[in-house]
Amino acid sequence: MKWEENVRKVVPYVAGEQPNRPNMIKLNTNECPYPPAPAVGRLARELDYDACRLYPDLGSRTLVEALAAYYHVEPARIFVGVGSDDVLSMAFMTFFNSGRQILFPDVTYSFYDVWAGLHKIPYHTCPLGEDWHICPADYRQPNGGIVFPNPNAPTGLLESLDTVEEIVAANRDVVVIVDEAYIDFGGDSALALLEKYDNLLVVGTFSKSRAMAGMRIGFCIGGEKLIGYLNDVKFAFNSYTMNLPAQLLGAAAVREDGYFKETVGKIISTRERTKGKLQELGFSFPDSRANFIFATHESIPAKQIYQALKEADIYVRYWDKPRISEYLRITIGTEEQMDQLLLFLEAYVAHHGKDTLEK
Ligand code: PMP
Repeated sequence: MKWEENVRKVVPYVAGEQPNRPNMIKLNTNECPYPPAPAVGRLARELDYDACRLYPDLGSRTLVEALAAYYHVEPARIFVGVGSDDVLSMAFMTFFNSGRQILFPDVTYSFYDVWAGLHKIPYHTCPLGEDWHICPADYRQPNGGIVFPNPNAPTGLLESLDTVEEIVAANRDVVVIVDEAYIDFGGDSALALLEKYDNLLVVGTFSKSRAMAGMRIGFCIGGEKLIGYLNDVKFAFNSYTMNLPAQLLGAAAVREDGYFKETVGKIISTRERTKGKLQELGFSFPDSRANFIFATHESIPAKQIYQALKEADIYVRYWDKPRISEYLRITIGTEEQMDQLLLFLEAYVAHHGKDTLEK
C-alpha cells in the first residue's frame, strides 16, 4: 500500500508486564509498595468533581509552586508533565535538534533509544565499564546532547556529583539531561549544579519515591531559558497535559515531607537487608542506590529464575539483551514481599544451585 511509505515507523517501548492478581508479588516496574501520602488520599476523597467541567490550569501552578517551594527554585525554572516519560520525550524533541548524535550509556533506560527513533535523533551508546560505571571520558566526543539516569537503571549504580559535573562541564554547547527517577533512594541530586550550568536539565518523577505512578506526574528543573523553550514546544503540541487531580494531588504529596522521608527510609532499609540475603544465596549485584537490585546468580541462569518466579506469581524484570541477559532487576517491595521472594529463592537455589548440580 502506497500510504504505508509515509508512515512514521517506530519501534515502541516495551514496558514491564502489568498483571493485577490479588496475591501476586509485583516487583517488576519499580513502583513504590506503600500508598501515597495520607494527605493525597484525603484530598482525593474531597476533590470537587464539578471542577472537571473546566480545563485544568495551563501552567499547573499549584503543583509547580509546591515543587518550587520544596526544591527552593523559582517556579519559572520548573516544567511538569505526564510522568517523566512525557517530560523526557518533550526534552528530546526540544533540545536534541543539531543533527549530531546524542550520547547515552549502552546499558540504561530502554526508552532513550525509542525516543531517539521517534524524534529521528541520531544516537551513539557509550559502553559502561566492567564495573557498570559510566566512563566520563566517553562523553568528551562530539555530540548533539547527552542523557543518562543517575542512579542508572537497570544497574542501580550511582555516579558521584563530581562525575556528573565533569560530563556537564565538558559539554557546555549542548543540553545534558540527568534523569533522577531514583535519586531519592540515596544519591546527591544534580540540582546542586544548576546555578553553575545553564545547559543542565534535571528530571524527576512522582512514580517511585512518591508512590504515585498511577497519577502520571513528572517534572524537570533547569535554567529559565531551557524551561521556556520546553514550554514553547509543549504548548505547540498539547496544552492541557496535566489533569486537575494530578496537579492537586501531586502538590499535596510534595507538602507531606515527613511521610515521604519515612517511606523512602523504609525502602532503603529493606533494600540493604535484601542485599545481604541475596548475597548469602549466591547472588551478586552492583551496589544499588535505587529502589531495585540488579542481580545475577553464580550458577543459575537469570532467565530460568525469572520464569520460575513468574510461575510462583512473583514478577521481576528480565531482559534477554546483550550484557544483561544474566541479570534480574528486582524492585524493592515491602518487608513481607521481600521475605516471600527470599523464601522462594532460598528453596530454588537449594534445588538448582551449584552445590546441588555438583552432587
Ligand atoms: N526514567 C527512568 C530511568 C525510569 O526507570 C523510569 C520508569 N520506567 C522513568 C524515567 C519514567 O517514569 P515515569 O514516566 O513513571 O515518571
